[in-house]
Parts: sequence; structure tokens; C-alpha cells
Amino acid sequence: MNAQRVIADLRELAARTSTPDGAQRLAWGPVWRDARDWFKGKVDALGLPIRTDSAGNNWVTLPGNSPKTVIVGSHLDSVPNGGWLDGCLGVVAGLEALRMHAGSTPPATLTLVDWADEEGARFGRSLLGSAAAAGSLKIEEVRELKDRQGTRLVDALAENGVSLDRMLDAHRELETIPARAYLELHIEQGPVLESMNKSTGVVLGTFGVERHMIRFIGQAAHSGSTPIPMRRDAFLAAAQTALACRDIATRHSTPGAGVVCTVGIVNVEPKIVTAVPGVCEISLDQRALDPSVLAAMLREARDASAQAARDNNVKVEWRDLWRIDPRPFDPALVRLCEEAVREETGEAPRLPSGPLHDAAEMVPHMPVVMMFACSSNGLSHCKEEDTPEKYLETTIRAYLRLVQKAIAHVAAQ
Ligand SMILES: [Zn+2]
Repeated sequence: MNAQRVIADLRELAARTSTPDGAQRLAWGPVWRDARDWFKGKVDALGLPIRTDSAGNNWVTLPGNSPKTVIVGSHLDSVPNGGWLDGCLGVVAGLEALRMHAGSTPPATLTLVDWADEEGARFGRSLLGSAAAAGSLKIEEVRELKDRQGTRLVDALAENGVSLDRMLDAHRELETIPARAYLELHIEQGPVLESMNKSTGVVLGTFGVERHMIRFIGQAAHSGSTPIPMRRDAFLAAAQTALACRDIATRHSTPGAGVVCTVGIVNVEPKIVTAVPGVCEISLDQRALDPSVLAAMLREARDASAQAARDNNVKVEWRDLWRIDPRPFDPALVRLCEEAVREETGEAPRLPSGPLHDAAEMVPHMPVVMMFACSSNGLSHCKEEDTPEKYLETTIRAYLRLVQKAIAHVAAQ
């Protein structure tokens, strides 16, 4: 197990694909292709072939005594001005797992995947490559996507040898692999592990999300002439609802199972300093790992908005924006991950993932678990993204242990 070699590789990749503003491995562009060339060089040195699937995902397989497969992976693409660890930590640690076994035949097959376009930073569709492999990508929903320069997704894909209409073939290609485990190491991208002074966390699953717009309709009126009890102030109803949603999240949070509610948008009309707001629209984003908790949080937010509307004599309307079910990880793999983290660090903190990851796309298809490395200052998607080196080393070692355990676990099935 050579964690230092993983860190050296990561620094080499960062030096090659970053500017002073951070990582520039934007999917389907020249720097990302260069990162993939660098990766190919490392794989070539192991004497293993790379297979690119119909969605542009890169696969490297080390055949084992059994065809039953442990998949390790993450993504090399980054947001513009991104961090040096987001995504490539999992790919480069996976490369080290292959190196550990290269030249031998492990008891189960080990496959490394580098997913294409996890970030969606250029065309706005995250998890593009893994969603295609999972079969959940809706081609018609992405066909017309363009980047800020007006380049069409279809053309950017074609430039990289990927045909949009054939991307879902990647799903059939994945189905030919007898995958029994998917393991992804990723930087946490939040402040939880750091706040606990922990290097490494066991991830229980990715949050489900309920995203809605809530519109309150009252009556705009003169701010000087309208007595408070006679007002129909839409903003106050929205504000009351936002505060209630914070309380809902606090009430449903338990240690190790935090949940969140966020009001990120507030639009008020007529937006005049001398007018009582007649209309106020707010967004609501609720996330939880437990589906029944997420459903309860949504119900309670609806009730709170209805109460706020009554209290302020306004009407309320809800509009759905987007939702996704929680994706809990596999209990047996979560236990193996706990063992690996505990053996390396003495304890095994468990936490859910707020952001989505490629791992979430694999959940319906195979047992999945993720491991998190602590984020310095909770920062990610920026050049300041980092994990203290001592923590990074410990986490990589714990992850390589997990891969060993998963290979033994799968081979014994
Ligand atoms: Zn990532």
C-alpha cells in the first residue's frame, strides 16, 4: 500500500492540469483530454488496456480468479477553477489498487472506472457518463444543451468520439460485467468531518432531494396608509415559512443523520420601499437520507406554508422543481468500510452525502459504498480545496484496505 505514491500522482496531475486559479479539467475539453492522456500513461505502465464505453467512460480491468467484479472509480473532470482532489482522488487511489495487484491474479476481478462529465459544469447535466451507464439518462432531455459559448453538447461529445444517440449502449456494456461492489473514495466537500477532527468518514448514502417553489399571493398596498392588522403581506408569510423550515430541519436532525432545508431564492413584488409586498416567491430545497423523514419534512413544510398563509391572510401555491429519492448504500459494504476506517484511524464516523456522486447512479444496479476524506475548511469546487496531508494519507490507506476487503468479500460470495 503506497499512499505517498497516490499523493505524488495527484500533485503531478494537478501541476499538469491547473492554473493559479485551480483545476481546469472541464469535461470534453482539451485539459480534460490531457488529464485522460496522463491517466492512460499510468495505466499503460501497468500493462493493462483501457476500454472506452459508448458514453466516454474509461474502464481498466485486472481479471481475477473469479469474474465477479469489484468496481472502483470516480471522475477526472473538474469544475472551472476547481480543486485538486474532487474526483481525481478516487480515480488515482483506484489506480493504486490496480498497481497493488498488477502482475498477480486477485481472487475477484478488479475494475477501475473514470466516469465522463460528473460535474456537468459545462452543459449543466451532472453525472452524464454514469447516468448513461446506469441507463437513467434521458437522451431527449440533454439533446439541445449548449455551453456558454454556444457549443452544442452533441458536437462536444462527437469531438471526443461519443455519439449522443448511442450513449445508452454504455448501459448494456455495464450489464455484461458481473459487478458485486462499487467503491468510491471522494473528498467530503463539506465541514462535518473537520468539525469532528476526523480524517475519514463512512458514507451511508446520498441524500434524497425535494425541490419546490412556494408562491404567496397577498395584496400590494401603501406602506404608510395600511395598518398592520389590515395588511396581506406576502413576504411575511414567506419569511414565517422559511423560519418554520429551519425548525423542521433541526427537529428531524439526529446525530449522524443530519438533514437540511434551505430557502435559497426570495423574489418579492412590487419590490418598492414604500409598498407592502403583494407577492413573494421562495425556493425550498429539502434533503434527507431516510425517505420517510424526507416525506415528513415535505408534509410539514406544506402545513407550515398553509399556516403562514392563514396567519397573514394570503394565498399559497406550490410548484415542483425537481426531486430524487435517497440512495442508501449497501449495509454489508458499509460494514466493510467501517472496518477499514476503524483499522486505520481507530474509529469510523458515519455521515450521509449531501452532494450527489456517480456512486448514486450505481445504487440501483449493484452494492455501493463511499468513503470520504476530510475537507479543509469544508471547501470544494475552488482552488482552496484541500485535505491535510496526514489525513489524506490515512484515508487513502483506509480506502486501499476497503478494496482488499471487498475483493475477499466478493470472491467468497
Ligand atoms: Zn466529484
